[in-house]
Amino acid sequence: MTPDFQTVVVGAGVIGLAIARALVRAGHEVLILEAEDRIGQHTSSRNSGVIHAGLYYPPGSLRARFCVQGREMLYEYCRTRHVPFEKTGKLVVATLPEQIAGLESLMGNARACGVNDLRMVSAQDARAMEPELACVGAVLSPSTGIVDAPALMLSLQGEAEAGGAVLALGSRLQQTESMVDGYRLTVGGTTLTCANLVNAAGHGSWDVARGVASFPADLVPEQHLAKGHWFSLAGKSPFQRLIYPLSDGASLGVHFTRDLGGGSRFGPDLQFLEQQQVAYSFEAESGAFGASISRWWPAVPAERLQADGCGIRPRITRRGSALSDYLILGPQAHGLRGMVHLFGMESPGLTSCLAIADHVVEELKG
Ligand SMILES: Cc1cc2nc3c(=O)[nH]c(=O)nc-3n(C[C@H](O)[C@H](O)[C@H](O)COP(=O)(O)OP(=O)(O)OC[C@H]3O[C@@H](n4cnc5c(N)ncnc54)[C@H](O)[C@@H]3O)c2cc1C
Repeated sequence: MTPDFQTVVVGAGVIGLAIARALVRAGHEVLILEAEDRIGQHTSSRNSGVIHAGLYYPPGSLRARFCVQGREMLYEYCRTRHVPFEKTGKLVVATLPEQIAGLESLMGNARACGVNDLRMVSAQDARAMEPELACVGAVLSPSTGIVDAPALMLSLQGEAEAGGAVLALGSRLQQTESMVDGYRLTVGGTTLTCANLVNAAGHGSWDVARGVASFPADLVPEQHLAKGHWFSLAGKSPFQRLIYPLSDGASLGVHFTRDLGGGSRFGPDLQFLEQQQVAYSFEAESGAFGASISRWWPAVPAERLQADGCGIRPRITRRGSALSDYLILGPQAHGLRGMVHLFGMESPGLTSCLAIADHVVEELKG
């Protein structure tokens, strides 16, 4: 029996859209299923919008590899497709003398990941670059930047559709059954068939995998949701470059980013949710943010910080554990032909989307 679609991609976030684009370029006939009425309503529009250079991840991990490759692919993509971006550069700052060793080890880790353009900067030089900044030393990352994530998603969607992909909005995948030559999917009140299935459903990836009748249950990882809030600050941006404290390993710490319109944002924090439910209520206090920011920006006008929004990290690891790597399970892992599941696609997934997409196309070939 000929399937209705050769390949179904579940999820129209930045990763699902990048995968759909890569698949049509590789000759697939693609259907994108998206549960919401618009693309990119979840993590892909609730992030810092930073193009990460790739400093933090364990060398050899998928996170490290995809970030370094994906960052260059993304800069090139933005240039050729006229997606707004800016290579702002970023300073990672030490606020105490004992943190200087942490900056040195960050540089070593980045080098081992293939990031060779970092430079140690003295407190004096950092202040010359950013007069409002207080630190005892810093690392400058010139290849960090920012991107307009909604514009990126529209561009990926446009290319996928121009290549023949069909986008079905308001279409939640509920159940998947294996057939001899593919899969039967239940979507709302209807069913459709496909030869290949890519699960890029973000927080929903766990439910999608559990809904595949023949998928080995023990391969579905634990799911932990961790919220991150931002506060914004009206007026002129206090810094040109992005400013980050040293990471504590669990998150990058409350940092300064700006958007392409010059707006300033501080965050995200890290709050693990007790209930594994995606709800975007704002539950952060500006006082705690102000105290944290004041370590490297003493003049922060904490009383003018405005609640801005939040996003939710789809994590495989629980509170207190180090960040896990991405988990991408293809046919070799679970034995089901033409099926790939993506779990734990948190930061730097926006930066890495094009590299992740190429990897998924290879998984399907294998
Ligand atoms: C606080 C925070 C800050 C971040 N900052 C950065 C950053 O600065 N730089 C960076 O590179 N990365 C960052 N990230 C990570 C980045 O945003 C994500 O890696 C990326 O957006 C994930 O994209 P996605 O397509 O996998 O998920 P999503 O954008 O969540 O998309 C998944 C889609 O699947 C749909 N879906 C779910 N279930 C179903 C179903 N059953 N059927 C059909 N559709 C379904 C959802 O509606 C959704 O649209 C950040 C993330 C967070 C949370």
